[in-house]
Amino acid sequence: MSKAAEDASVSMEKIVSLAKRRGFVFPASEIYGGLAGTWDYGPLGVELKNNIKEMWWRRFVRARDDMVGIDTAIVMNPKVWEVSGHVGEFTDPLVECKKCHQRFRADQTDEWTGHYAREHGRAAEGADFSEARNFNLLFRTFVGPVEDSASQTYLRPETAQGMFVNFKNITDTMRRTLPFGIAQIGKAFRNEITPRDFIFRSREFEQMEIEYFVREASWEDHFAHWLNEMRAWISDMGIAMERVHELEVPDGERAHYSKRTVDFEYDFPFGKKELYGLAYRGDFDLKNHFKEPPYREEGEDSFYPHVIEPTWGVDRTVLAVLLEAYREEESEKGKRVYLKLPPRLAPYKAAVFPLVSNRPQIVEKAGEVYKELKAGGFSIAWDARGNIGKRYYAQDEIGTPYCITVDYQTLEDDTVTVRDRDTAKQERIAVPALARFLAEKRKGSISNATQ
Ligand code: ATP
Repeated sequence: MSKAAEDASVSMEKIVSLAKRRGFVFPASEIYGGLAGTWDYGPLGVELKNNIKEMWWRRFVRARDDMVGIDTAIVMNPKVWEVSGHVGEFTDPLVECKKCHQRFRADQTDEWTGHYAREHGRAAEGADFSEARNFNLLFRTFVGPVEDSASQTYLRPETAQGMFVNFKNITDTMRRTLPFGIAQIGKAFRNEITPRDFIFRSREFEQMEIEYFVREASWEDHFAHWLNEMRAWISDMGIAMERVHELEVPDGERAHYSKRTVDFEYDFPFGKKELYGLAYRGDFDLKNHFKEPPYREEGEDSFYPHVIEPTWGVDRTVLAVLLEAYREEESEKGKRVYLKLPPRLAPYKAAVFPLVSNRPQIVEKAGEVYKELKAGGFSIAWDARGNIGKRYYAQDEIGTPYCITVDYQTLEDDTVTVRDRDTAKQERIAVPALARFLAEKRKGSISNATQ
């Protein structure tokens, strides 16, 4: 087994290096020395990320009768954030090293207690840190030409509030009855004290969130339903359940309005950390935003529906998917690195190669196969350089599940070789059957809801 999680520190290095070398993720603004906590998704990273988001949207929005999608503004009226409690309370405790002024999250004790000995060569006892103070994670900005307190607002730190403030717009326009949900995928911004661990904790990231509105009496059943939905999603991502842990957040650590919260934690190489979360939020949010109860059904008084909130981080999904997929294998030809991505997630579904580049008929036929598959809606790579073994390895490293080679025999019987990324085995398939083959494989092992 060559699971990434086995060799923690090396694996993160390998993932970060592969991500950069092969165009998945680059440090943002790199030519200017970067900007801490920001990352750019390259051509392959954006395909992978879009595939994740598309699967999510299919599964949780299009495939369901009880869900609508929405896409709300990143910059909202500041009252939203005052009322939601973010302006007052969206804080992390911060301590500062008095020697070098480096800042740490006070609750990440190991980080800052170890800092003194590491950086200043002194025992931890000699460490001199400021008292912990609360640091607000909201990014401030100004709307319009005058920068004063009246024009100040914030970049949203979560997508959720956009759904709550639109609750009545949705019930008025879409005629939904309970239970139903509003789903959104979008950017969120948090001025994290210590962004770290690659795309795990950044200052600009993406969330996929659902606010699912229910009657209070049924919240436990709906909570159980969403637990199962989240488990099924994790398995469709190719993430092994043995590395996922469901943490029942205990009393006192949950938000005051939540009667139950479950964090899905994943064994990242840098520790067991939150991947996703599921929270019962009661009627806290709708009560904050709506003076009058915003919902009623015929024959009933108006009331505040209760909310179950499943939340997924897109970037943490990308990282977990890459860690799970990473494989190294020794063969007689040397080390082979491949990403065992579920075909649905792979940036390219297949690569097309002419066996040789000095036979015009072969190159031309390969070009036709390539164009036809692309026209059929598949994302397809093309490579005509160097020897075929190197081309296979290059595709393995970016997780392309199939390499299609047009050779001399193709000109005679219209078949091609199709090499499987995981087994390196080859089979011959007729050119007209290729699209169907790829479509079947793309469905692969994932559940109906996501297909
Ligand atoms: P953490 O405790 O790790 O800071 P959180 O509990 O503050 O996370 P939530 O507010 O529940 O996170 O956000 C929902 C989801 O958004 C998280 O489960 C995670 O996947 C993602 N997320 C939160 N903060 C970040 C970040 N700084 N970078 C990347 N993803 C994030």
